[in-house]
Amino acid sequence: MDLFEYQARDIFAKHGVPVLAGEVIDTPEAARAVAERLGGRAVVKAQVKTGGRGKAGGVKLASDPDDAVAKSGAILGMDIKGHTVHKVMLAQTADIAEEYYVSFLLDRANRTFLAMASVEGGMDIEEVAATKPEALAKVPVDAISGVGLAKAREIVAQADFPAEVAEPVAEVLVKLWDCFVSEDALLVEVNPLVKTADGAIIALDGKVSLDANAGFRQPEHEALEDKAAADPLEAAAKAKGLNYVKLDGQVGIIGNGAGLVMSTLDVVAYAGEAHGGVKPANFLDIGGGASAEVMANGLEIILGDPAVKSVFVNVFGGITACDAVANGIVQALELLSGKGEEVTKPLVVRLDGNNAEAGRKILTDADHPLVELVDTMDGAADRAAELAAK
Ligand code: GDP
Ligand code: MN
Repeated sequence: MDLFEYQARDIFAKHGVPVLAGEVIDTPEAARAVAERLGGRAVVKAQVKTGGRGKAGGVKLASDPDDAVAKSGAILGMDIKGHTVHKVMLAQTADIAEEYYVSFLLDRANRTFLAMASVEGGMDIEEVAATKPEALAKVPVDAISGVGLAKAREIVAQADFPAEVAEPVAEVLVKLWDCFVSEDALLVEVNPLVKTADGAIIALDGKVSLDANAGFRQPEHEALEDKAAADPLEAAAKAKGLNYVKLDGQVGIIGNGAGLVMSTLDVVAYAGEAHGGVKPANFLDIGGGASAEVMANGLEIILGDPAVKSVFVNVFGGITACDAVANGIVQALELLSGKGEEVTKPLVVRLDGNNAEAGRKILTDADHPLVELVDTMDGAADRAAELAAK
């Protein structure tokens, strides 16, 4: 889960990373009082979850409260790389002498964590990384020993920070690592980390990505979710406890087990090529115990997606045998029609594994006009794609 800059700033502050005061507003008029509180001058910064705001005109200096209202008005509603600006942060201004870059991230490829640092921070760090890789120090960080002062000094030395800022930057790195670990983050990035004219080190812009899998032990993180931006189907699925991800195709997918569902997506995408390029409409793993209720919830979400033209239910019976799943499907269809949500899109069902025969018999006997049984995964994917293309 990526955070807005203002949320990243709050998290930094909580862990002692030096930041400047700021407030978030969503109307230009609100800028006046905030600018007054900040001492008149303020930086007005678009709050969008994408980089390059500065270059896009989404970061502007306001000289007084009137100017803050004008600049907020100009930035609110702006489109930055497809993201509409709904909020701006007004922050205290900094008198910048130098701009650096520091970050910690999970380095999946190397199965470790990584520190990155550069004295050439600011708006062009991507270009520095691409054209002058030697100017961006990359230092692996061991998960157990982490980043204490000694490790932080090593990172600072590798990036060639000027001697007079080496120690304060190292201290900031220790706090930033503490933030990374205690918040279960996948990325904490400060760009720019600035040296001000009077020699202070301050995190002026932050990017934080939190590990949603750690949500269970981070109760405060739920409040950081941008509920308004969430896909409504994904939000509804989450509320029902389903593992659902919206994709942009036409074949709704329900399967049991993440691995099976992933391969179902591949098989449907492949089969779809022969039917005008139809694609899977979603990922949905209903897990091991596919009860009628879970099946009904899953079908309800998938059928609620107007892009869906057909549904492929792909189940490999294991501990939950196919007859139980088949009963689940039959009851789910009854449940939905009982709620007035009559199923109008074709369902292609492939049952294999434990008690597959019994499961198929249950569906055959139920004889639902929209349910079709296909024996193989490839065959079912092809049929579902064909139905979606009609
Ligand atoms: P980004 O373009 O989305 O990364 O937005 P940043 O928050 O990093 O801002 C872009 C640039 O604006 C920074 O690299 C700074 O040069 C400048 N900037 C941001 N805040 C201030 C400030 O308080 N004072 C001054 N003078 N410049 C600032
Ligand atoms: Mn930045």
